[in-house]
Amino acid sequence: MTEEKATQYEFKAEVKQLLNILVHSLYTNREIFLRELISNASDALDKLRFESNRGTEIANNDLPLEIKIDFDKDAHTIKISDTGIGMTKEEIIENIGTIAKSGSADFLSQIVENKEDANNIIGKFGVGFYSVFMVADKVTVTSKSYKKDAAAIKWESDGLGSYEIAELDEDMQRGTTIDIHLNKESEDYADKFRLQQVIKKHSNFISFPIKLDNEIINTIAAIWREPKSSLKEEQYNEFYKFLTYDTEPPLKHIHVAIDAPIQFNSLLFIPKKNTDMFGMNRDDYGLDLYVRRVLIQHKNKDLLPEYLSFVKGVVDSEDLPLNISRETLQENLVFTKIANSVTNQVLSFLKKMSKDEPDVYKEFWKEHSKYFKLGYTDFQNKDKYMELLRFNSSTKENADDLTSFDEYIERVKDDQKEIYYISGNSRDAINLDPHLEIFRKKGIEVLYLYDPIDEFIFSSISDYKEYNFKSVDQADLKKIEKFDSVEEEKEKAEELTKDEKLHFDSMLERIKEILGDKVTEVKISERLQNSPACLVNPDDSMSASMQKIMNIVNKDNQIPKKIFEINKDHKLVRNLLKIFKEDSKDEYIENVVVQLYESALLLEGYLADPHRLVNRINSLLEDSSEWYTTVKKI
Ligand code: ADP
Ligand code: MG
Repeated sequence: MTEEKATQYEFKAEVKQLLNILVHSLYTNREIFLRELISNASDALDKLRFESNRGTEIANNDLPLEIKIDFDKDAHTIKISDTGIGMTKEEIIENIGTIAKSGSADFLSQIVENKEDANNIIGKFGVGFYSVFMVADKVTVTSKSYKKDAAAIKWESDGLGSYEIAELDEDMQRGTTIDIHLNKESEDYADKFRLQQVIKKHSNFISFPIKLDNEIINTIAAIWREPKSSLKEEQYNEFYKFLTYDTEPPLKHIHVAIDAPIQFNSLLFIPKKNTDMFGMNRDDYGLDLYVRRVLIQHKNKDLLPEYLSFVKGVVDSEDLPLNISRETLQENLVFTKIANSVTNQVLSFLKKMSKDEPDVYKEFWKEHSKYFKLGYTDFQNKDKYMELLRFNSSTKENADDLTSFDEYIERVKDDQKEIYYISGNSRDAINLDPHLEIFRKKGIEVLYLYDPIDEFIFSSISDYKEYNFKSVDQADLKKIEKFDSVEEEKEKAEELTKDEKLHFDSMLERIKEILGDKVTEVKISERLQNSPACLVNPDDSMSASMQKIMNIVNKDNQIPKKIFEINKDHKLVRNLLKIFKEDSKDEYIENVVVQLYESALLLEGYLADPHRLVNRINSLLEDSSEWYTTVKKI
C-alpha cells in the first residue's frame, strides 16, 4: 500500500505508564490479547449492525459481518480483521491514543503491585487494546469507517512511546485490520492449533463467526435461547466465564423463558465473589440486552435496579423493535415490563434459595449484601426486599449467624408488637451497651446492626407485617416491663426508705442543676441492671446512631440533648445519696455526675475532647487510692 505523509504522535503519559506495566508485569497470561482484540472486533460489528438496523447509510453494505484471523508461521505475524464500524483518523487518535477512563492505569498498577489477577480486570477498564503489546513488537492498525467518504487510515506503533498515523491512498473495504508482528517470546502464537485453542477458551460465545483459515471455530448459538433441559451446568459456566471474565464458576444461574404476555428469555448469574473489590468499578454493571438475538446494548442499567447490580447476564426479547434507540428504551412500555419481570425473577429466586439452600444464601449474603441492602428505596418491591434481609441478633451465638424478620417474628413474645434493634461496631461492643440490659433481663430479642446502611433501612422503612421497628434507646419501657424476667433476679438492693426517697428526688434535682442544658431531664431508670447511668432519646426522635450519622452528613457538631437516666439501685448511686445527705453541695458529687455523663457520651460516640474526662478520672483515681490505702490500712 502506498501512503501519504505519516505524522508522529506521542502516547499520553497514562498510556505509556500502562504499556510499561503490561509489557513488564502481565506476561503470565499473554494469550488474553486475542480475547481483547476479538472482543473489540465484535463490538465494532455490533455497532455496525445497530447503525444498519436504524437505517443509517453504510459503506460496503453487502460485506458479511465476520471476524477473520490469519497467521504466518514463518514471518511470525497474526492478522485480525473485522467488517465492523471502522474508525476515522480522529476516532483512532481518540480511541487508541488515550485512555477513556481516567485513573485506569493507576488502578492497574495498584493491582499488579498487589499481585491480583489483572487478566480478569484488564478488559473491564477500556484498556484492552493495549494488551496486544504483551505479544507484539510492532502493531499496525488499518481502518476504514462505515461513514461515507471517510478516508482509510493506518496507525502503527512499537508500543514504546509514540505512534504514527497516515492516510492511505489506496482504498480499502469497511472495517479494521490489526497486523501483529509477534515479539520473540510470543512467536508460538502464530500457529493454527494454538490460536484455535485460545479462541475456544476465551471467545467461544462471540455472536459473529470467527474464521481461522476460512473455518468457523466459535459456537455462535445464543445459549439463553436454548431449552434448559438441553444445557449442561458446564455450558452455563463456560458462558458465564465468557461474559464476565470471572475465573470461577458462578454461585447460581437463573434461566427463564417467558412467552406471554411478552416474550423474552433471560439468563442471569449470581457471581461467587463481589468483583468490585475497591468500589472502583461502580459503573461496570448491567445486563446485555438483545432483540431477536441481536445485541442492542451492552450493560444496560435499566433492566435491574442498582441494588441488584451484582447480577450479570443477558436478556433477549422478540417483542422489542430491532431499531429501538438506547435513549428511548426507558420510555418503552414493553421494555419496562420486561425490566419489572426480570427484577421479580431475581427476587423470587433469592427467596427460594434462602428457603431451600440456606447455606448458599448465607454465602450470597456475605458477598453481595452490601449492594443488596441499598434496595430499601425500592418501594415497589418492599415486601420482597424485606423478606430477604438478614441480621445478626441477640439470640444468635456468633456474629455471623443471621436471622430474617420472619424468624424474629416467630420468636416474639405474646403481645410484643415491636422489632427491636441496636447499632454498634461489633458484637462485643453491643453486648456492653447499657440499653440492652433490660432486654436481656426480659429475654426480648434484639437485632444487632453493624453496618451504617442498616440504620437507613430501619429509619426509612418503619415496620414489617404490623411490627414496628424500635431502636432500643427509644423503646417504650411500659411495653417491656410487663414481660416476666427470664434472668435470675440480681440480688435486689434494699428498698429506699421514705426519707431516702425524698432525698433521692432532691439529688435528681441537684444532678439536673449540675448538667444544666446538656440534658433534657434527669430521672430514675427502669432499664438499667448493671450500669449506673445512661443517656436515652426523648420519645420519637431518631435512634442514637441514626442521629450520629445525620450529624456527620450535616457536618453538625452539636451534641443532641437526651434524658439522663440513673440506676437508683447501683452501689455508686447509693453512695452518692449518702454523701448528698451529708452535704448536698459536695464537690465529689459534681465530679462523679459529670464523669457519668461524659462516659455515656463516650459510649455513644459523641465525646469530641477526652482531655477533661481523663483529667477527672485521674483525680478520682487519686482520691480512691487514698481511701483504699486507708481502708486497707496500708
Ligand atoms: P474498550 O474496548 O473497553 O473500549 P479497548 O482498549 O479495547 O477498550 O479499545 C479502545 C477503543 O478503540 C474501543 O472503544 C473502540 O472505539 C476502538 N476500537 C478498538 N478496536 C476496534 C475495532 N476493531 N474496530 C473499531 N474500533 C475499535
Ligand atoms: Mg475492548
